[in-house]
Amino acid sequence: MNSFVFHNPTELIFGKGQLEKLGDKIDQLGNKFLLVYGGGSIKKSGLYDKLQAIFNEKNAEVVELSGVEPNPRLTTVQKGIDLIHENGLEWILAVGGGSVIDAAKAMAGGAKYDGNVWDFYERKAVVKDALPLGTVLTLSATGSEMNRGSVVTNWETQQKHGAGMTFPTFSILDPENTFSVPKDQTIYGISDTLSHVFEQYFTHTPEVPLTTGLAETIIKTVVNNAEKAINNPEDYDARANLMLSSTMALNGLLAMGVETDWATHSIEHAVSAVYDIPHGGGLAIIFPNWMKYVYKEDVSRFKRFAVEAWDVDPEGKSDEEIALEGIQAVRSFFDRIGAPSRLADYNIGDDKLDVMAKKALPFGPIGNFKKLSEDDVREILRMSL
Ligand code: NAP
Ligand code: FE
Repeated sequence: MNSFVFHNPTELIFGKGQLEKLGDKIDQLGNKFLLVYGGGSIKKSGLYDKLQAIFNEKNAEVVELSGVEPNPRLTTVQKGIDLIHENGLEWILAVGGGSVIDAAKAMAGGAKYDGNVWDFYERKAVVKDALPLGTVLTLSATGSEMNRGSVVTNWETQQKHGAGMTFPTFSILDPENTFSVPKDQTIYGISDTLSHVFEQYFTHTPEVPLTTGLAETIIKTVVNNAEKAINNPEDYDARANLMLSSTMALNGLLAMGVETDWATHSIEHAVSAVYDIPHGGGLAIIFPNWMKYVYKEDVSRFKRFAVEAWDVDPEGKSDEEIALEGIQAVRSFFDRIGAPSRLADYNIGDDKLDVMAKKALPFGPIGNFKKLSEDDVREILRMSL
């Protein structure tokens, strides 16, 4: 087992009606803050009104930044930083999915930095200080509510990069706040959650049995609850299981003692940077193809994945057949829930394969299970057309 440091300071406040704890958090962090949200789903769902009632009760001086785009943009982050400076705000409350939370993390780090916040995403600087950030999660997908990652798109240069920014101080996770998530976003969230597990499951470092088992349990939990939530969006238990799974899939737990991969995320970010497609949709297309491309690096790992996570019956089959059946089980699951399977589903053809392949490796080779070159990435993209 590799040595590691596990540090996760986010206070998770989980369950029905937990928004009521927000008042205590305002008491702790101060009543002058920036409220960040997206394109209006929180107004339609009624969450915005519930927040206003709590703000009024606390006499909070709230400055709002709405309209954070899915795949949040650097220009929006900069607007938030300016509002924080102009109004002397003490902390940030992000209410939304991964895009809103990631943008808020960028604002939290950027507000305490003299240079351009994009420096963090270009690996020219590391965050030394950040404003406190609280979140109210409305979409199960990214795990951003309990990790320090932030992914921002610089639309002018067509770059989508991730950086380690800051952990939320607290995150309120009420599964009821995800009842209104539409079918397509529910599917993308499921695909993103599974992809986070896969990125950490396929490792060339010696297996850590405890986290291997945890990863397999998360996969099974997601698979068992996916169709329930898609078919009945107000199934509380299904939404709660998806929410806990997505948070646990990317909060550092699964990375303990192993070297993780993340090549597929880099490839997806390159596709999103050029075509602005939903992150989870891109992953559902690319991941099975990455698996087909790399499985020979460690057939026994893929065999275990097939048998333990996807219930493939190994009887009378070669290791390779079992491994390939496991990969097919992933593809079939994505098909069953209605996730996209080809880049053509987003009208993406082969004309920008070279551009995307180059963008996927901004800092050198990607991946650890198998180190991928630009040629490898181009091939995986070609398989995904
Ligand atoms: P998202 O981009 O935050 O949201 C997608 C859409 O869902 C938005 O249109 C949003 O509408 C809507 N939505 C959210 N909650 C809703 C609700 N309760 N009811 C109805 N609609 C709702 O989706 P996401 O998948 O959570 O985040 C994707 C971003 O996170 C990508 O940029 C991806 O690269 C990044 N990411 C980050 C990490 C990380 O660790 N930080 C990991 C993986 C991916 P509104 O805008 O109107 O709210
Ligand atoms: Fe992701």
